Amino acid sequence: MTSTRYALARTAGSLAAGLSRRTGRGDGTTVGGRITLALDPTALEHAAGGRDFAIVSGTNGKSTTRTFLTAALLTRGPVVSNAGGANLPTGLTAALTRDRTARIGVLEVDEPFVPIVSEAVHPRVAVLLNLSRDQLDRYAEVRRLAGIWRDALSRPEAPVAVANCDDPLVVWAASAAATTVWVSAGQRWANDTAVCPACGGVITRDGADWSSDCGLRRPTPTWTVEGTQVTDPDGTRHQVTLAIPGDVNVGNAAMAAAAAALWDVTPADAFTAMTLIDEVEGRYLRTSFAGVPVRLLLAKNPAGWVEALSMVPDHEVGVVIAVNARPADGRDPSWLWDVGFEVLRGRVAVATGERSRDVAVRLRYADVDHTRVDDEAAALRAATKVGPVEVLANYTAFQTYRRVVGDG
Ligand SMILES: [Zn+2]
Repeated sequence: MTSTRYALARTAGSLAAGLSRRTGRGDGTTVGGRITLALDPTALEHAAGGRDFAIVSGTNGKSTTRTFLTAALLTRGPVVSNAGGANLPTGLTAALTRDRTARIGVLEVDEPFVPIVSEAVHPRVAVLLNLSRDQLDRYAEVRRLAGIWRDALSRPEAPVAVANCDDPLVVWAASAAATTVWVSAGQRWANDTAVCPACGGVITRDGADWSSDCGLRRPTPTWTVEGTQVTDPDGTRHQVTLAIPGDVNVGNAAMAAAAAALWDVTPADAFTAMTLIDEVEGRYLRTSFAGVPVRLLLAKNPAGWVEALSMVPDHEVGVVIAVNARPADGRDPSWLWDVGFEVLRGRVAVATGERSRDVAVRLRYADVDHTRVDDEAAALRAATKVGPVEVLANYTAFQTYRRVVGDG
């Protein structure tokens, strides 16, 4: 009975998705998934179809790590993945309904949905990257998310946790799992983990090490990351030269390699596959505008901005800082004051987006030379006069820039 109901729900979902695509209301993924799930709440479990899954979650790096892990597992055969970043149960249902053949799946999952998705797809592994506040959520929110993960991982038949030992919130959550693989993937943004998630006491830091009086402390990693080198559990060092920028992405690559190892993909094969990735849905995309090289970087929250700013090269470049404050971005841009824009001193920046005035005020206090240009294309053109351009944009501003450079 259920399977008949599921078949009907699936058909209705794909019809709705097709209709949505044809009428130009988005790519239809979410609409189709929503209808399938509404008609059959067990649709995600059915769509999973007993296949072998990895899930990837965390505040930052989900899409990149999902892309890395997919590349590594493709060395084992076809892989289904929720490319496009639709990471709620609706989007996952749609992605799994579309591809019925691949036996392995890599799913990027929005943080609060880790328990629901785990129950439905029974993943072999959960890759847990980091937890920090998004937009203006406060510590209580990320602590609550860590608790939700912890509950999910303490259930019987919970997945193996591949977890970042440098993030105390992740460690507290993942230490509930029966089996954990610790990776020193780094934590550039420690502002949300001054307080121990287990006892509420202070976290003491000593270099990379950290501990709390209650006994929660940094576990010893079996995969370690130093600069662009990753040491695997056998002690073999791998030079990981990625096509996409950022030390943070070497950490993400190590997390993906540790997960791929559960399918017997060797670290060497995994990293080779990952070095071929040169963009993730427009992020890190190298393109050109008015004959000048341009790269697009997405930053959605304070931790993401710190990472993106670290990817701006030292040499002469033009920098565009584009910030909107629509619902998808978070309405309140006061987080601008939590991010160290001072690292841009000595560079020439152009502030744009709907909140360009807020950006300009922040850059003035950071003592960064800048101009303010309302129109996004005009802002990019102004930056090209300096040299190659790095565009750092938050969510909806990033979508605008994909259109400006003709990608999406
Ligand atoms: Zn503690």
